[in-house]
Amino acid sequence: MTFSPQPPVPVTIITGFLGAGKTTLLNRILHADHGLKIGVLVNDFGAVNIDAALISRVDDSEAVSLSNGCICCTIRDDLRLAVVGLLERPDAPDYLIIETSGVSDPLEVALTLRVITGVTIDTILTVIDAEQFLTIPRENAVLAMNQVGVADIVVLNKVDLVDAAGLDSVRKRVRDIIKTARIFETTHGDVPLAILLNVGGFDPARLTSRSSMDVHTHGAGDTHDHEHTHDDHSAVFETWTWRSVEPISAAELQRVINRLPETIYRAKGFFYLADSPTLRATLQVVGRRATLTPDGDPWGDIPPASVCVMIGAAGGVNPDDLQARFDSALAVNAPKNDFQRLTRGVLHWIRGSK
Ligand SMILES: [Zn+2]
Repeated sequence: MTFSPQPPVPVTIITGFLGAGKTTLLNRILHADHGLKIGVLVNDFGAVNIDAALISRVDDSEAVSLSNGCICCTIRDDLRLAVVGLLERPDAPDYLIIETSGVSDPLEVALTLRVITGVTIDTILTVIDAEQFLTIPRENAVLAMNQVGVADIVVLNKVDLVDAAGLDSVRKRVRDIIKTARIFETTHGDVPLAILLNVGGFDPARLTSRSSMDVHTHGAGDTHDHEHTHDDHSAVFETWTWRSVEPISAAELQRVINRLPETIYRAKGFFYLADSPTLRATLQVVGRRATLTPDGDPWGDIPPASVCVMIGAAGGVNPDDLQARFDSALAVNAPKNDFQRLTRGVLHWIRGSK
């Protein structure tokens, strides 16, 4: 009997700044006709993994949730153990996709993967929000640029939200940062699968060049010695989660979202809406854009409850203040005639416009 070693399992690392559209793209991939048994690892920076819950279950796919830290720094071991755990299963996946948190440095994730036997990095895929990219706050620009600078593939997403001149500026900016990446312009992460998986675009030389650097910039432009313990992102980003088992008013929630401090970059969560109490509502806030989808899955046997994760600048996330803001929107505190009886439809709005 001859022993034929298994070929290594290819890994695609999906990266991109907070709210770029990584989960949407991942859902597209999982639902496409690829014939692969895909193992998925999803990392949210917050204590609750909203993204993992937003991944629709697909046959033959496993989603492993990595929360309460960032896989590029604070929970690297969790990533390694999760990958090894998937590979050791009798029904091991034949492809892995890792959705990194919006604050991670993908090259640090690649360095962790490099030492795991049985996997090979296929591609680093960076999702960009075309509208958001040129307005990413200065303190996060280095991180966002690092995410683009290591891309094999750039998915320039939400191109419908910018005009021709704006799109041209983003294209130029991306080309300035990375000359070699393939760029695909899309809306809603709609990219043909054949060009995303098993493309073998990753060049391991990048890891060498990064590891040999004495210092690198990480987050808010702070340089530090790479040989020492890696900075975790809590130095730059902070996260906080609001929870309640009381129903909340959709109109009041919209008001709260409109008045969130500018230091909050991203909010996402599930809500128990007084206006639509039997269905799980989803909220997404990226920069000034907010979307509330009232008609999600029925709560079923799960007791309805709201949970909202916010990510902002370190020092810019004030729990007491945010707690008071969200509590004020609970139905018991809201005007009685305020409920909209939302049963369908998606509310999109620009913060500050209502
Ligand atoms: Zn990190």
